[in-house]
Amino acid sequence: MFSIFQKIFGGFLLGILLLSSLILYFSYQTIESDYHENLELQLDNLNHIVILKVKELVQQKDYKKLDSIVNVMDDQINTRITIIAPDGVVLADSRHNTATMENHSDRPEIIKAMNGNSGRSLRYSSTLKSEMLYQALPVYNEKKQIIAVSRVSLLSEKVYNLINKITQRIFNTTVIVFLFSIIGIWFFSRSLTNPIKKLAQASKKVATGDFSTFVDMNNKDEIGDLALNFNYMVKRIETLFTEVTASKEQMDNLINSLQEGFVVLDSEGVILYNNREFEDILEANYVKGQNFEDIISEKTLLKFFRKMVNKKGSRIKEIDLPDKYLLCSGKYIESNDEIIILLHDITDIKELEKIKRDIVANVSHELRTPLTAIKGFIETLEDEVDDKARYYVSIVKRHTDRLINIVKDLLVLSEIEEAGTKLVLKDVNFNDILENVTKIYEPKIKEKNLSFECHIEKDFPILKLDMFKIEQVMINLFDNAIKYTDTGSISINVSKVNGEALIEVEDTGIGIPSDDRKRIFERFYTVDKSRSRKLGGTGLGLSIVKHIILAHNGKITLKSMPGKGTKFIIRLPVIT
Ligand code: ADP
Repeated sequence: MFSIFQKIFGGFLLGILLLSSLILYFSYQTIESDYHENLELQLDNLNHIVILKVKELVQQKDYKKLDSIVNVMDDQINTRITIIAPDGVVLADSRHNTATMENHSDRPEIIKAMNGNSGRSLRYSSTLKSEMLYQALPVYNEKKQIIAVSRVSLLSEKVYNLINKITQRIFNTTVIVFLFSIIGIWFFSRSLTNPIKKLAQASKKVATGDFSTFVDMNNKDEIGDLALNFNYMVKRIETLFTEVTASKEQMDNLINSLQEGFVVLDSEGVILYNNREFEDILEANYVKGQNFEDIISEKTLLKFFRKMVNKKGSRIKEIDLPDKYLLCSGKYIESNDEIIILLHDITDIKELEKIKRDIVANVSHELRTPLTAIKGFIETLEDEVDDKARYYVSIVKRHTDRLINIVKDLLVLSEIEEAGTKLVLKDVNFNDILENVTKIYEPKIKEKNLSFECHIEKDFPILKLDMFKIEQVMINLFDNAIKYTDTGSISINVSKVNGEALIEVEDTGIGIPSDDRKRIFERFYTVDKSRSRKLGGTGLGLSIVKHIILAHNGKITLKSMPGKGTKFIIRLPVIT
């Protein structure tokens, strides 16, 4: 590859070389043709003078004198003179003996002259054995008859010597001009390429991160402007680079100070960025650049990562690892086509929850036996005491019943929480559940004079469920529906919609105000405490329902209008 200097210098050199050659060639051509023309004119004039001098002698046929005159003239003008008779016989020649000369009638210049023209020719002279330039003219008598041909001639060697001398001079001058031009071009090319070279070297330095680079140039032209802009650009890049580095450092510090494991994946699952905590959680080192598949071995965590990479979107999931609990939250960032995942270690929180749960379960368990004993003795006492005392005993009995209900519900709740996802799944025909529940509550429905409708879709599939727990759900919802409905109807609707099992329990009861709807699934939350208590409620029923539905990976929502009624909607995944 050629450098810019070589290209500019070489280009000019070639141009000048071509130009010089052309000048030389055309000068030579012009000089040669001009010189010939001049020479021929001179020979022509000379020949006219010769004719004036020899005409008389030719007419007198005094060839001896003629020969001596041409010799004298040759001495004076240094030109060969030949006089030829119309029949081609040489009458006189200044350089040769006529007696030995051959007939000249076939010479081209003589033929032309015999035709009355000026004959010229440049050819080899067989007489003098060298190349000669000839000029011949006819010699007329008074009657305008050609009586001879006068020919003057020059050795072409002489002619060319002169032309060559002139050409040599032109050549020398051209070479000098050429040499000076080369020096000039060399300096010109360097002055053009040096600043470019400087800029190229400077940009190379900048590329390696050296922002102290400065191009010092005094040129007042476009290249000077370029250098000025380059220096400004480098300063700007340096400032931006410093800013970006600072904000990256800040970002790194921030992310590294996070308690959570932080990781950014590309759409293929390759780790683009992560903090130390992420590596600590996975007990791995230098995971950046690796695919998550190669560093995560735990199945549930791997499943979460795969879901994030394959399905994108955002999701949150609690993951139970052998030695810790993780709260994993992932989000797909569409603009960058990247996935951000945060792993929050919630082992401590989970352990605290477990302690709390254990306390509640233990206390409930311990309370159950004395409470059952108290209830037994109260029932015995009821029969033994008088009417006045019986009133007080009945109050004690009601409160004992309430306590027993609370303890019972708390035990159910802690059992569900403890078991978590450990459900006893078996094939369940939903008709059986509905039949059992209806049987339990039939007397109460009749007692309250409510109408009841139960509809289950034909071909509703057999589902894999924890039968006992789902029955508990239906009992709690049905119990509430009856408790909080004084007139009207209660209906249950079971169907399959969009691949999910849809279970709806609807009543025309008192409804739930919108402010309470959000908190209705919290433990011990009741809308109207005294009414709930009067009806034997504990505020734990819906909490139990929600836990069981979540354990089945389902969802529970509700629609309600105060005074009009309430509808609980359960969606369960269809696992057959
Ligand atoms: P409780 O034992 O008090 O019924 P739940 O957890 O089952 O406790 O219900 C919480 C509260 O939600 C109830 O106290 C009641 O105010 C309200 N509630 C539940 N079901 C219904 C319903 N079908 N109609 C009106 N209110 C209801």
